[in-house]
This record gives sequence, structure tokens and C-alpha cells, in this order.
Amino acid sequence: MDDLINKLREVLGDDGVLSSGEISSRACSYWDSSPLRARVLLRPRSTAEVSAVLAICHGQGAHVITHGGLTGCVNGVEVSSDQVILSLERMNAVEDIDPIGRTATVQAGAILQTVQEEVAGHGLAFPLDLGARGSCTIGGNVSTNAGGINVIRHGMMRDLVLGVEAVLADGTVISAMNQMLKNNAGYDLKQLFIGSEGTLGVVTRVVLRLRRASTSLDTALVALPDFAAVCHLLSQAQSELGDNLCAYEVMWGDYYRAVTAPGWHRPPLDRIHPFYVILESRGVDVERDSERFLALLQRELESGSVVDAVLPKSEAERTSLWNVREDFEAITIHQPTFLYDVSLPIRHMQEYIERVQTAVSQSWPEGCCQVLGHIADGNLHLFITPNAAGSQLHVDVDSCVYSPLSDYGGSVSAEHGIGREKKGWLEHSRSAAEVQLMKTLKRALDPANMLNPGVVFDL
Ligand SMILES: Cc1cc2nc3c(=O)[nH]c(=O)nc-3n(C[C@H](O)[C@H](O)[C@H](O)COP(=O)(O)OP(=O)(O)OC[C@H]3O[C@@H](n4cnc5c(N)ncnc54)[C@H](O)[C@@H]3O)c2cc1C
Repeated sequence: MDDLINKLREVLGDDGVLSSGEISSRACSYWDSSPLRARVLLRPRSTAEVSAVLAICHGQGAHVITHGGLTGCVNGVEVSSDQVILSLERMNAVEDIDPIGRTATVQAGAILQTVQEEVAGHGLAFPLDLGARGSCTIGGNVSTNAGGINVIRHGMMRDLVLGVEAVLADGTVISAMNQMLKNNAGYDLKQLFIGSEGTLGVVTRVVLRLRRASTSLDTALVALPDFAAVCHLLSQAQSELGDNLCAYEVMWGDYYRAVTAPGWHRPPLDRIHPFYVILESRGVDVERDSERFLALLQRELESGSVVDAVLPKSEAERTSLWNVREDFEAITIHQPTFLYDVSLPIRHMQEYIERVQTAVSQSWPEGCCQVLGHIADGNLHLFITPNAAGSQLHVDVDSCVYSPLSDYGGSVSAEHGIGREKKGWLEHSRSAAEVQLMKTLKRALDPANMLNPGVVFDL
């Protein structure tokens, strides 16, 4: 056994250090079911242990890849057989909930859904929410600055984090566990670790900002005749429901038809419409909130901007509406399918999608392009299945999706990050000076390029 592994076992004990043989029954990630391979997988139980093992790895020049829930969409957790995995799986406690200050202090390996449920038990809410809630971790959410379905009302992870504790590549602990809304004492160091995809430090603990729990919940799936009606309904819902509007999720007709094809989800509405939207409102005045929600739908149905609608009568029915939006296995079962996460101003979205669809059908006549999005956030997801083969396929599809974005001031990543997958496209959305400053920060905090090397950019 090599010297590095002996030293790591002295800190973590035998069950904290899993050999390559012991991890081969694990999958690489949510997206890649092939067996996980690495030099070793570390399972620390505390920040002190993370600090000690990073200091050892630093001393021996070992590259460390941090693993959370492995649901990230841009290949940030890929590891080679000579690298070390640092998994936060045993640092998953909700340490404290403060109902007066409305904060929760959690370890980075805590699963998002567990945090949501524990906080709800105190009459509070942690409003970050995404389809991977049952597997993704708070540390992963911080490191990717996750978005999801409630950004329209509550912002992204960055808006929901008050404090962060992180360990630098050499083992130095930076404990910025602020609990206040206001703290301008010098630089706001937590921002270094939010959205930097594990390249600047390993997040170990987080102070989350909580909201009061809502008592009203109104949900509808509606069908619309065109993109103008989608924009009109968004604007009406924002004006009339105000801050209660917490989700506005658009599915283009092709996406809806793919996920409700025979053998997949039962279609809650006919499969003939050009657009579908799930809208959801949460507030604290049960009767009046529902009245306002129903009045909005009624009026839009009468005016024809909404052509059909369904309202769930139970939580089970609500879940099956959301499953249509969140479970896209009917699409990803066809391989290769490439998932994209772009952002651009809403007013350009329809033209942009038409350009991408035209480019896809010209290059791959059997190909499909299915689209959905958190459009109020300017965020679209595209699934592109070329139904073709070739070594250049991924590069060519990337080009169809990313090349037109600069005409609209768009970004190659709205919420998933850059990872290893998109680093060739980083300069499409960021200036050379911005990328240089990112590299300066990386060199200052991790001069030996030990943490997640090759993620976001190559040094
Ligand atoms: C079905 C599904 C739906 C999704 N929906 C959304 C969505 O709506 N919005 C959205 O933003 N994302 C979405 N995602 C993507 C993903 O869930 C998020 O990026 C999530 O934040 C990743 O968390 P994770 O714990 O799985 O991180 P991982 O996949 O384990 O890691 C992601 C990156 O963060 C780094 N990292 C993880 N933990 C730490 C840590 N403690 N310290 C430092 N670095 C760390 C990793 O090295 C890697 O680079 C979805 C994914 C799936 C599978």
C-alpha cells in the first residue's frame, strides 16, 4: 500500500478510506453508470479531517476531486485512476435551525430534500428546489450556484447563503460562517466558493437563509397557442400574483409529447398544443391566494391566451404534473442525447430556438431538439438527440447551440456551470480579462492546481 494511503488511513481510519476495489460497485455519476475508478475515495467526518487529508494530499502533490451527490450536469466530478476522491457523504448533518434568525447551519454533504424537510418541521422553508433534490447536496448546490424552479421568486443558491466554511487546497480552514444579512467587514469571502465548482476550496459547512413557510399552494398546467401567449401569461401572472408566483416552467410542445409518449407519463392535457406551462403560487392567505390564482386562469382562458388547463386536486396529482416536467428519461433513454443549459433575454428565445432547430434538422435529418425552461430567469434547457453517430458529433451539436448565443448576449451556462464539458466555450460568454482574473484567483488559492484540476478552465 502506498505511503499516501497509509497517512490518510491514520487520519480517517480504515472505513474512511476506500480502495479502488471497494468503490468499483459505485456508479460514476447520475449520468454515467459505469464503475467508479480512482486511486482512493476519502470519507471524512469533520472539517478538521478534511483539513488534515487535504494537507497530506497537498504535501504529496495528489489531485483531489470533490464529490457531492454526483448529479451535476457538466462532468465536474470525473476522476482518473491516479486521482483522489474526497466525498462529503458522511458530513450530512443539519447542525442547527434558528427560527428567530431564520437560518439553518448544515454540513455540506446534507441532501437538499433532507434540509427542506427538516426546516419544514420548524414552520420554515428552504426554497431552493430542483429535480435532483433527493440526491444533490448543499455543498454541490453552493459549488455550482444551483438555480432550479423557484429562482423567479427566491433567487439562486447565492441569494440563499449567508455563510460558508471551506478548506483550501493546503488544508487551511476558512470559516466564514456569517449568520447575518448585513456584514460588510471586508471582502465577502463566501462568494469565492459559491459557483466556483470546487476549484478554489472544499465547502464543508454552510449557513442557509430560510423563509417563512407558505400556507397556500396553487398549481396549474396550462396549454398555450404560441410563444407570445407564454410571455403574456408570465407578465400577467407576475403582475397579479406578485411575489406569490414561485414557478413558471415552460415546456415546448415537442418536449411534452416526448415525455408523454405511450409507455411514459400519462398526458394531463391533450398532446396537440405548441406550449405548456406549469405555474405555481405560494402565499400565506389561503382563500384570497386561490381566488386570485383562479381568477387569472379564468380570464386568460376566456381571452384565448390559455387554451386548456388542469388543476391538481391532490398532492399526488400535483406530483404527477411535476413529473412531466422533471422526469425526462423518455428523452435521455435515446443515446447520445446532449443536454444544454443556456440563458438569453426572453424576447429573443423563440427566434433562437428556431435557429437551433433549423441547424439541427439540416445537419441531422433524423435528429430531435426538445426544449423546456425556467424562462422567467432567461434560462432554457435543450435536449438534442442527433440520431446519428460520429466522433465530432458532440462538438458539432455544441456549435449549433452555442454559436448563435452571442448575437443575443446569451450565456453558455445559466445554472449548471462549466465543469469539464463546456470549458472550450467559456470565452464565448466571458471576456479574456474575466477569464484571466478567474485564473489569477485560482493560482492565488491553489497554486499547485490540486483541487478539481481541469474544471472551468485549464491552467
Ligand atoms: C434530474 C436533475 C435535475 C436537475 N435540475 C437542476 C436545476 O433545475 N437547476 C440546477 O441548477 N441544476 C440542476 N441539476 C444539476 C445538479 O443537480 C446541480 O448542479 C447540483 O447543485 C449538484 O449538486 P451535487 O451535490 O450533485 O454535486 P456534484 O455533482 O457532486 O458536484 C458538482 C460540482 O461541485 C463540486 N462539489 C460538490 N460538492 C462540493 C463541495 N462540498 N465543495 C466543493 N466542491 C464541491 C464537484 O467537484 C463538481 O465540480 C439537475 C440534475 C439532475 C440530475
